[in-house]
Amino acid sequence: MTANEAPVIEIRDLHKSYGQLEVLKGVSLSAHRGEVISLIGSSGSGKSTLLRCCNLLEDSQQGEVLFKGEAVRWRGHGLGRHPADRAQVIRIRTNLSMVFQQFNLWAHMTILQNVMEAPVTVLRRDRHEVEEAARGYLAKVGIGDKCDAYPAQLSGGQQQRAAIARALCMEPTALLFDEPTSALDPELEQEVVKVIKALAEEGRTMLIVTHDMRLAADVSDHVVFLHRGLIEEEGAPDTLFGNPRTERLRQFLSATA
Ligand code: ADP
Ligand code: MG
Repeated sequence: MTANEAPVIEIRDLHKSYGQLEVLKGVSLSAHRGEVISLIGSSGSGKSTLLRCCNLLEDSQQGEVLFKGEAVRWRGHGLGRHPADRAQVIRIRTNLSMVFQQFNLWAHMTILQNVMEAPVTVLRRDRHEVEEAARGYLAKVGIGDKCDAYPAQLSGGQQQRAAIARALCMEPTALLFDEPTSALDPELEQEVVKVIKALAEEGRTMLIVTHDMRLAADVSDHVVFLHRGLIEEEGAPDTLFGNPRTERLRQFLSATA
């Protein structure tokens, strides 16, 4: 990280409501290149909404999100309808690639096709080069032998690793994970955790929403505790987990222990 480089993701005073419900009440945080930030907090505290605002799955009412200094925003006439907006949406979603709790693989495509689909059809990259890269990423996450299988033929842990390979195949600047292990049985959770740890060791920029405090403690440079739409406490994992300052964080940690 160079001193003057703009953060990969910068969130400034973000406010987001659904109707009368104010979900984010002024959240600011930034992720520099190579940084891993974990977002923790109770269900309903706004973690998913925050991630979704970063890559334009949601708009916000106030504040801003910047990708490498570029303001990420809907421009008032509907997401992606205007060609300039659509180009930005593609650029942002490509660069901030998301992995969801429920994998979201396409059931009618093989694993290899799932990984190749967006780079070929959205980014219009060369099919042969994408295939080679896709096979490489599937091998990297330990399922190189599953290229021709369909999602339903894979375990949950294998499906989530395929979803991670799919995100990697976009060659993103950063990865956004929304509870990547929450839908998995404990024994399958670890194979996904292992992949995420390996990505952290490679120095990838990642924003990880997780209920797995051990994962957050192991991989993060910085942990953010969200409570009812506000950052209640944040800091280095050792400090945050070892010496929580606020009663709310203490309660949250004892409830999840
Ligand atoms: P978390 O991921 O921390 O569990 P969410 O960001 O999913 O929290 O949700 C925060 C709050 O916003 C919750 O009260 C949830 O019910 C509400 N919410 C989330 N998405 C929507 C939506 N599309 N429409 C209305 N309310 C929503
Ligand atoms: Mg969520």
